[in-house]
Amino acid sequence: MSSYTPSQDTLLKVIVLGDSGVGKTSLINTYVHKKFKLQFKPTIGADVVAKKLQVDGKKVSLQIWDTAGQERFQSLGPAFFRGADACVLVYDVNVQKSFDSLQTWHHEFIKQTDISDPTKFPFVVIGNKIDLDNGASRAVTTKRAKEWCASIEGEPDAVPYFETSAKENVNVDEAFLDIAKVALSKGHAQDIYYESMVGSLSEIEEAQSGGCPC
Ligand code: GDP
Ligand code: MG
Repeated sequence: MSSYTPSQDTLLKVIVLGDSGVGKTSLINTYVHKKFKLQFKPTIGADVVAKKLQVDGKKVSLQIWDTAGQERFQSLGPAFFRGADACVLVYDVNVQKSFDSLQTWHHEFIKQTDISDPTKFPFVVIGNKIDLDNGASRAVTTKRAKEWCASIEGEPDAVPYFETSAKENVNVDEAFLDIAKVALSKGHAQDIYYESMVGSLSEIEEAQSGGCPC
């Protein structure tokens, strides 16, 4: 911590939600580490990773919060939602139920946070695993997904929609770049300074130590 120097980075807290198995952790791994692992390994608590990027010349530090295998709202503590600048809703294009669940995830997110106007909050929707069976096992059409995105904010294209493959690294960078963009344009991101770093780090510790089902 002693070597930390204040920077002009804008800190954006991004929460990734969706049913278990849709590929949330894989998308984050592909984006941040350029790694895709085939095994399915749900972890305990919250996983937080950071990624620095530039958006229109502005330095941004994305703090990406993953549900870490606890895809139930009761088990996600308040630290998980506090201060979120954007929410990414992920489903699997091959699993209808994971798409149907987006409604619940969206609804619960709004309930858990104290957003004054949900229509102005930055949501991004991702349909993942487009590579599976070369698209033969797809259960949800792009059209249907876009209709839902339009329905949650009442105007077409208000909620950006991306179709990705974490496995083959298709559209993953594009999706996260857009997440940063919408969070910057609609959000209330604060600039990082020493105290807020300390605050966010203790929040991470709190989230990692909390939520253990044992
Ligand atoms: P999470 O529970 O939402 O975090 O899902 P995971 O990231 O753990 O992924 C669940 C399973 O789906 C794992 O076996 C992954 O390897 C697999 N998976 C994730 N993304 C993709 C993808 O884009 N394509 C394919 N074919 N499999 C994927
Ligand atoms: Mg996971």
